[in-house]
Formats: sequence, C-alpha cells, structure tokens
Amino acid sequence: MRQDIDILVIGAGACGLAAAIAGHDAGASVAIVEKRASPGGNSSLSTGSIPGAGTRYQRAAGIEDSPARLIEDLMRIAGETDCPELVQHLAEQSAPTVEWLVDCVGARLSLVTAYKHVGHSVQRLHAPTSRRGQDLVDDLLAGVARRGIPLAVGNGVDQLIAADNAVVGARLKTASGESSSVHAAKTILAVNGYAGNAALVRRFCPEIAGAPYFGALGSTGEAVLWGEALGAAFANIGAYQGYAAVADPHGSLLSWTTIEKGGIIVNAAGRRFGDESAGYSGFTPNVLAEAAPRYAIFDQKMYDVAALEEEFVELARRGGFKAAATVQELAKLLDIDPATLAATVVDAQRSARGDFADAFGRRDFGLGPLHQRLYGCRVVPGLFHTQGGLAIDLDGRVLDSKARPIPNLFAGGGAAGGLSGRSGAAGYASGNGLLSAIALGRLAGLAAAAEVRGENP
Ligand SMILES: Cc1cc2nc3c(=O)[nH]c(=O)nc-3n(C[C@H](O)[C@H](O)[C@H](O)COP(=O)(O)OP(=O)(O)OC[C@H]3O[C@@H](n4cnc5c(N)ncnc54)[C@H](O)[C@@H]3O)c2cc1C
Repeated sequence: MRQDIDILVIGAGACGLAAAIAGHDAGASVAIVEKRASPGGNSSLSTGSIPGAGTRYQRAAGIEDSPARLIEDLMRIAGETDCPELVQHLAEQSAPTVEWLVDCVGARLSLVTAYKHVGHSVQRLHAPTSRRGQDLVDDLLAGVARRGIPLAVGNGVDQLIAADNAVVGARLKTASGESSSVHAAKTILAVNGYAGNAALVRRFCPEIAGAPYFGALGSTGEAVLWGEALGAAFANIGAYQGYAAVADPHGSLLSWTTIEKGGIIVNAAGRRFGDESAGYSGFTPNVLAEAAPRYAIFDQKMYDVAALEEEFVELARRGGFKAAATVQELAKLLDIDPATLAATVVDAQRSARGDFADAFGRRDFGLGPLHQRLYGCRVVPGLFHTQGGLAIDLDGRVLDSKARPIPNLFAGGGAAGGLSGRSGAAGYASGNGLLSAIALGRLAGLAAAAEVRGENP
C-alpha cells in the first residue's frame, strides 16, 4: 500500500504540535494538517498553564511535590473516572513533560508561585509569564519549524481512511473544496473535543447545552464521530470544563484569581448562591442555574494579584468592571439593592474571618475578608472544552469496546478520555486540559515512532 509519511498528525494545537515534535525526534517522518487558517486551537486561548509535580523549578522554589500528591489531588477532584491508570500515568509524566517543553522544545515556562489554582494543594502550574497560551503555542510552532516538520493549514480532514479496520491515512479537504488523501503508517488524532458541536454537547453533556461556547471554532467533535464509526470506546465522555465567570459583555475571562483570593459571586438581588471555592469549572452549574445578571465582587488585594495576568489588565483597560469606595456605591453602579449587597458582604467578611461557618460551606477566602476598594464585574457562564473522548491506552492508542487497540490510530488531548472524572464540570482541575494534550501528544508521538520502527507493544 502507498505510504506518504510515517506519522500523520491531525490538528495543530498543543497536542498535535507536541506529538509531531516527539515523533520527529524519535526518528519518524511526520506531517501535521490543520483545518483552520491558523494553528493553535483552544491551546492558543488557554492561559498556557500546565501542572508539573516534582519539577526542578519547584525544587528551586522550595516547594515539595510529587506525582503521588498530584494523583491524590486529581482523584479527589475528579471523583469517579473511567481511566484511573491514565490519571496516575499522566501525573507521573507531568514533571518530565514540563521539563521536556523547556529543554527540548524551548518553551518559555516558569513556575506560577502567586497562586495554586483549582484542585492543587501546592504551587505546581507552569506557564508563560504572559499567562497566554498563544506564547506556548508559538514556542511549539517554533520547535516544529526548526525541525522542518511540514504543517499545512487550511487542510481539514473530513474522513479517516481504513482498510480492514486499520487506519491507513486520511482524506483532506481545503476550504475551497479540493480533496486529496494522505497515506500514513500511523495517524494521531489531535483535533480536541466536541464543545463546538451543539448536537454532541446535547448528547453527552446536556446540563451545559444551553451555555455559550467560548472555545476555539475547530473543536467540532470529529474524533468522537470517526472513532465511533471504527468501533472505538469512549472514556469520561460526559466531562467538560466550564467557566463560571466570563466577563459580560466583553467575552474575556474574569481571572478566577479574583474569586480564589476571596471574591464572591452574587445574583441580581445581591445574594451569594453557592460555595465559590468549587472552582471556575465546578461553580459553573451554580451560575447557570441562577437567573442573569450575576456579578463577581472582589477587592483591591485580589485585583492586585490578578493584575499579574495580561488578560485581566486588558479587561480592566476595556472597562470590564466597576470600582467603588464603598459597597453601597458599588451596589448602585451595578443596579443591586445596596442594603442586600451590604448584608451579603458583611456575611462573607465574617465567614472569611472565621466568626461563623460560611452558609455555603466555603472555607478558603484567600486574602479575604473583602475590604474597600471594591470591584464588580457582570459575569456569564461558558463552556470551554470537553474533557472526555476516545478510550486510549497509556501511550494514546485508541481502544475498541474490548480494550483492543484499533491498529495505527492514536489520540490525545481533548480528543481522548481526560483527567476530569466521568461527567460534569466539577472534576476539572487547572491544567488538566494541557497536561493531557501535551503529555499524551508526546507519548503518542513516541509510541507511534516506535511502532514505525517495528517495536510493537
Ligand atoms: C479560555 C480557555 C482557557 C483555558 N486555559 C487552560 C489552561 O490554562 N490550562 C489547561 O490545561 N487548559 C486550559 N484550557 C483547556 C485547553 O486549552 C485544552 O484542553 C487544550 O488546549 C486542548 O489541546 P488540544 O491540542 O487537544 O486541542 P486544540 O488546542 O483545540 O487543538 C486542536 C486543533 O485541531 C484542529 N482540528 C479540529 N478538527 C480538525 C480536522 N477535522 N482536521 C484538521 N484539524 C482539525 C483544530 O482547528 C485545532 O487547531 C483552556 C481552554 C479555554 C477555552
């Protein structure tokens, strides 16, 4: 049979770019195809934060961490999961992945020490200083370019080519409708999940089906559809990451640091409606259940920490929130009853001081209690990406319903079963998306190259 290339990588987000670099460095010929006019996908929209448990950066900062501790954190948050071995494996791979990004790819990452973020018991997120995923994607793209790996944008795969149920390549379609095919020994699906496909969201994550989608347009679920047609099994298919605080109407993220460090979220009446420490994803269903408008309320201390993030500074510059010296003044600016908002803030201050148990069970108020100067931002909930997909083994081989690999087919990142539990938004810990994208991309690239060399598992 004709073969154009050893490894065809479909999708040029973090997973695909990492897979291509790893496969190339392991000696295989690799090509990447991307359906959008530019690469990056959701990875570009992210904050570029990836957990690494036990990295040399943590040791230098005096932070004690280990894969075992990350596994404990992830499992505590994720609850029931279809793939506990994957959680364990990716936790073990997290520090080597971060160090590989820096040492082999040339990514400019540093340890985030200002906050831990949702789900993590120690500082272990590593991110570009800008906190922009685009910087991480640019570094991966530079690694791809340095190696001379071909990357064809505007070339979407519309069908996998299979022979006797083994995948042997893919059919491409350009935006102008021209078709061609690429035959490859191994194919890696790095096309992310299905959050941009309303029918699949309704099928697998009905609770979030009404929320606006804030991720990249390319995430339209082809891995799920192609995999299903080939008899692949699904894993954690109902899990997703929501975001409880998209600034409205600006459409950019209100940094969750404002809430994690002691801010609260109130409804139109000025009352809280849940434990915000559930995290930006876990709190999303609470916000969805509350009629609009809802507001995030935070103070200057929280603002100052969030201001380390470029997107927050940009949101401030665009007038994304109102500021006031007193709670009554802020309530007027937000059109909330001043007495009710004042009572809510007083209650939150008492909970933060530990005067009494918080009515919603929140224990961590960060830099609270809230104090002037106060800020208010109207927020809406959003769907960011799905966290489940094709069942895979620990090297990203796609598995059928009897856990047998579908020959030549690999998947990683949002295309594969993730780390965030079986269903819903509560299982998402910060960095789960990029950890499964980059660690699995790298592992799939290495395993595909090993199979090309004839080293079958
Ligand atoms: C606003 C936001 C913030 C986030 N912040 C973080 C964070 O800080 N840390 C974290 O871990 N996660 C974060 N996430 C989640 C994270 O971005 C994703 O989990 C991760 O980027 C997925 O990587 P990926 O490579 O699988 O997919 P993507 O980066 O989306 O790449 C998939 C690529 O495949 C292309 N593609 C799709 N279908 C086809 C096709 N048929 N043919 C060819 N190409 C195709 C797409 O166009 C896209 O370019 C965030 C998400 C959002 C939306």
